[in-house]
Amino acid sequence: MTNPSRLAWILDLLVQHKLIHKGQRTDVLNRGRDQARHIVLDKRAEMRRLLGKQRVNYSVSEIELIASFRFDPFEAELPEGETHVSERTITGIVADALELEFREIDALRLNYKLVTEAFGGPFAERHMIIALDETPDELIVGVADPWNSDVIAQVARFKNKTVRPVMAMKSAILQAIAEFHGFRRSMKAAAKEFGSDLPDIGNLEQLYKLQSIHELDATDQPVVQAVWYILNYAFEHRASDIHIEPKRDEANVRLRIDGVLHTIHKLPKVVQPAVVSRVKMLARMDIAERRRPQDGRFKTSYNNQEVELRVSTVPCAFGEKVVVRVFDPGVLLQDLENLGFFRQELLTFNNFIHASTGLILVTGPTGSGKTTTLYSSLHAIANPRLNICTLEDPIEMVHEEFNQMAIQKAIGFDYGNAIRHVLRQDPDVVMIGEIRDPETAQYAVQAALTGHLVISTLHTNDASSAITRMLDLGVYSYLLSSVLVGVIAQRLVRKICPHCAAPDWISEEQALALGIPGAEGRKLMVKTGTGCVRCRGTGYRSRTGLYEVMPITPRISRLIQEGAPSQDIKKEALNDGMLTLRDYGIKKLGRGITTYEEILAATDDVNLY
Ligand SMILES: [Zn+2]
Repeated sequence: MTNPSRLAWILDLLVQHKLIHKGQRTDVLNRGRDQARHIVLDKRAEMRRLLGKQRVNYSVSEIELIASFRFDPFEAELPEGETHVSERTITGIVADALELEFREIDALRLNYKLVTEAFGGPFAERHMIIALDETPDELIVGVADPWNSDVIAQVARFKNKTVRPVMAMKSAILQAIAEFHGFRRSMKAAAKEFGSDLPDIGNLEQLYKLQSIHELDATDQPVVQAVWYILNYAFEHRASDIHIEPKRDEANVRLRIDGVLHTIHKLPKVVQPAVVSRVKMLARMDIAERRRPQDGRFKTSYNNQEVELRVSTVPCAFGEKVVVRVFDPGVLLQDLENLGFFRQELLTFNNFIHASTGLILVTGPTGSGKTTTLYSSLHAIANPRLNICTLEDPIEMVHEEFNQMAIQKAIGFDYGNAIRHVLRQDPDVVMIGEIRDPETAQYAVQAALTGHLVISTLHTNDASSAITRMLDLGVYSYLLSSVLVGVIAQRLVRKICPHCAAPDWISEEQALALGIPGAEGRKLMVKTGTGCVRCRGTGYRSRTGLYEVMPITPRISRLIQEGAPSQDIKKEALNDGMLTLRDYGIKKLGRGITTYEEILAATDDVNLY
């Protein structure tokens, strides 16, 4: 449990620095005990889930407790990149007051050997310490709890060295411990698999010093392992893209996780070309060519699942920039139940895809998860008696249940052409990657008219606009009204991290801005992620869909045939009980699945009427 006098001392520091006001100080002192209990319960649940441990001891630090309140700064400016009085801010201030150095923990600059060999995993975790540097007579140790002088003395005795503590964030220390000891375990596993001992990765900078005369080679074992480490790290954090960006003095490794880029590592500048060469080598690209953009791909596996990686390089001012897109079948193809539908809409959508003929349209902007919906739908209906054909540009994921064809514009194999060929292949279900021209639109309707189930995507903001768009593409309204089974519009929003979710309130103004009925005169209780190790402090983990599911009822069909404007069609659908994207978001907000900010960002382009 937290130490009350220390908690008060840190709060006083923050008041002195004008980061919080006295009322907030009192708030933490009054509500701290409850808040700490919540944090512990969450951590225990998390550890049980992750590690299968039944008995877990987790103690909440004073800094962690204060940070979990996510205070906006009172009068002082926050350090750059911080949005609230965070663990980083508080740790820095405490370190200052105790006249300790504050260090950011940077995974790639840590000495792997030192970290894993100085202390055993459990010891390091219990005392929240990590070995950062070593000289013949001094060991520099990152600590999260600077008051624990016993452990420093113990380490000094044991190592027979002076120990110099520097302060670091608790979450960063625990994360590094988990990663490095985990890395060590996987290295051992890899070594066993290859039947030989792989050398330790050491520290890339140290390695450079040893080899400073020669440029590092892409086949050097530490480079091979660094790339392997970056890839696995990306898979583990469910990243969709990996960026390696050369800067003047170093290279940034950034990962796109749940739609947002995070800087994960900084590579020493000298190592970057070797790391890039290694990636290019894996993707069978020309390593010697560094001035021309290149594309390539390769496959690897993670958790026994094949993962496809597409690599592209472009020359930039400070070297080659590499982007690796990760095609994770676990993301692209899921059970429909996991896509974030509520029960009613799942039932309706299931009815769409189990129709034997007709047209289903999925709409939304790029990055709204349409491909996942298509693949997951096809997977849901696939059986050995059905011939499912897909036309894609490009094929995002290869799946043996489908007969997949890639559109190749360069040789004249466009959508229109492809549909004509596919229809001669006796398909039951045809997936068309995207309808974007009149020819494709008309062939899609033709295919649906001739007894096939056709599923495709369009680029429109909401479900009813898809109808207008199809008519704009030259489809006759009487044909569209007779083949259209249903339309869904969708968006992706980030889900609140379950490991650090905490109660939160939205103001009356915010509630009214979203259009929540009956919000006048009151705040509404919602949830927010306070940020933890599992979500890299973002408060979010993975994503979920918002859906507007519009079945084509006889009345709507008649409206389409009459060429009614899309607002009228929408109104009719709403009368039938359709939820708008915004409604869907509000429902998810109420259930503590996502946040106010996410819904606002995902649905601000949608006409509310
Ligand atoms: Zn979290």
